Amino acid sequence: GLRIGVLALQGDFREHLRAAAETGAQAVSVRRPQELDGLDGLIIPGGESTAIDKLARAFELAGPLRGRIAEGLPVYGSCAGMILLASDIADPATDLAGAPQQTFGGLDMTVRRNAFGRQRDSFETDLDFKGLDFSATESGVAPVHAVFIRGPWVERVGPSVEVLAQVEPADPEHASHAAALPGTARIVAVRSGPLLATSFHPEVTGEKRVHELFIRMIRGEA
Ligand code: GLN
Repeated sequence: GLRIGVLALQGDFREHLRAAAETGAQAVSVRRPQELDGLDGLIIPGGESTAIDKLARAFELAGPLRGRIAEGLPVYGSCAGMILLASDIADPATDLAGAPQQTFGGLDMTVRRNAFGRQRDSFETDLDFKGLDFSATESGVAPVHAVFIRGPWVERVGPSVEVLAQVEPADPEHASHAAALPGTARIVAVRSGPLLATSFHPEVTGEKRVHELFIRMIRGEA
């Protein structure tokens, strides 16, 4: 079977370990550079991108991970993980010395952190998500119920990056979420080759299809 690592420095890596194991893969925690060896894929969890960045550099994992991504290691990042896969951050945090946070990169795109506003820390919505046709029934592909927790959105994608899902503009008829929702459609899921990223957290809702899509990408079936 497949061996899937979950970057376990900070954030909700336990939820991703469970979700990865539920696909039938062997799921292992990754904290040290040697633990990148022999992986078929890696998941970068939600959490705090600045903390994961700092710890990855302190554990001398950041450089090797950048190298593995450049070599084609399949990686799925959710929320903070999406930020860490982005080539550019619109509004990077800076540390006390004024140095901006860093990313591992891989996806040619610009993300904006905490993009849905501070007025609501989280919201939930249903998304049409491309590439989940393997789960289609007679009534089509069921939407993905997506939970956003101070998530980023994607403001720019390069030509190599395919958009898989967007949050549609707020519908004034359903104003309960309008405070958090943008006035225009915003990109919240993308793919580029073996790299997959979502602004939201399928690992907390029991949604299995995003992890299944990642497994299918690794197998060359998607
Ligand atoms: N706002 C966080 C960050 O910038 C991401 C939040 C999350 O992963 N739930 O890293």
